[in-house]
Amino acid sequence: MTAVDFDALAQTGIRSLRAYDPGHDLVALRREAEGLLTELGSNENSHGPSPKAIAAARGALDEAFRYPDPLGGDLKRALAEKYRLATSNILLGNGSHELLMQFAQVFAGPGVEVVASRHGFAVYALAAQAAGASLVLADSLPRDAAMPLGHDLTAMAAAITERTRLIYIANPNNPTGTWFDAAAFDAFIQRVPDNVIVVVDEAYAEYVDAPEWRSAFDWLAAYPNLIVTCTFSKAHALAGLRVGYALGHVDAIAVMERVRESFNVNGPGLAAAVASLADASHLRESVDATRRERDALRDALARRGWKVWPSQTNFLLVEFGAETADVERRLLAQGVVLRPMGGYGLPQCLRITVGTSIENARLLAALDAITGPAGG
Ligand SMILES: *Cc1c(COP(=O)(O)O)cnc(C)c1O
Repeated sequence: MTAVDFDALAQTGIRSLRAYDPGHDLVALRREAEGLLTELGSNENSHGPSPKAIAAARGALDEAFRYPDPLGGDLKRALAEKYRLATSNILLGNGSHELLMQFAQVFAGPGVEVVASRHGFAVYALAAQAAGASLVLADSLPRDAAMPLGHDLTAMAAAITERTRLIYIANPNNPTGTWFDAAAFDAFIQRVPDNVIVVVDEAYAEYVDAPEWRSAFDWLAAYPNLIVTCTFSKAHALAGLRVGYALGHVDAIAVMERVRESFNVNGPGLAAAVASLADASHLRESVDATRRERDALRDALARRGWKVWPSQTNFLLVEFGAETADVERRLLAQGVVLRPMGGYGLPQCLRITVGTSIENARLLAALDAITGPAGG
């Protein structure tokens, strides 16, 4: 029997693609650790979702034999009210990851350039390459800048050519935790030609308290080429149910709807998202707790001599230097899971999700067991 060369059969863009690296095999690790794992590798919100969201999801399970609402009507109406938009400005995704992939499927392709930042979220590069487009990476801000490795919006605007059709920006960004201010974005968006789609990924928007930050939502009415993506996976703590959404011009959303799988968001996810939006006090308490814990963890790590990036998210990028791989391995041996950053070209760093106070204390204790309390 002759072997089939499946690589050769795949579309050009997919031949050179490497699958998204989700980090460790957590299911296997959990089994080994017998429930004692401290999972700080995936930027989940371990403060947990609104109990009302979980109750709504449970209720929806009774209807699991039916297809979910293909329009996601209740959720779109709730979001339309929140943002004072029409439901036709809203696109629902099986997580925002799905939508990020589909922007490239729809607006990019062979012969088209997609611009992203060198230390931007990994999904952007994957999306561009899967669509067969050329990825153009603008350099991030230098390490000694006020916002080290943050998006350099001037460099990103300068990377636009006649072939550019799509730009991905995260604000704040993963894995750096960095952000940019309203003035920088305003100057940037003015420079982008109106036939270039700008996707601003605001997965961590709820965590931001820097006064100079502003959601790109505020520019939507003036710039029809702008799309903002959001998710229920982070502050709303519903990562397992896979619900994200995009806000944009009705015509852009209508084109995207053509490739959306009809039942892409499941029933429990839709119900939980609606209930979570309605539980504003739970969200506020969860975000407040995470910010408090983030600042405490940042200070505790800095006191130990580690370089910690500024962050407006629920995670911290931390530089451990030449010993990084060793630190990561020894923490894992103690049941603490962090995210290695080699895939982002930052092998000297680890990304640490801010957990509950108990989880963060376990992390610090495990670190001290390796390096001694003075550490660094
Ligand atoms: C976590 C994250 C998302 C959210 O992904 P979902 O598919 O909505 O769970 C999107 N963008 C960035 C930058 C993220 O870190």
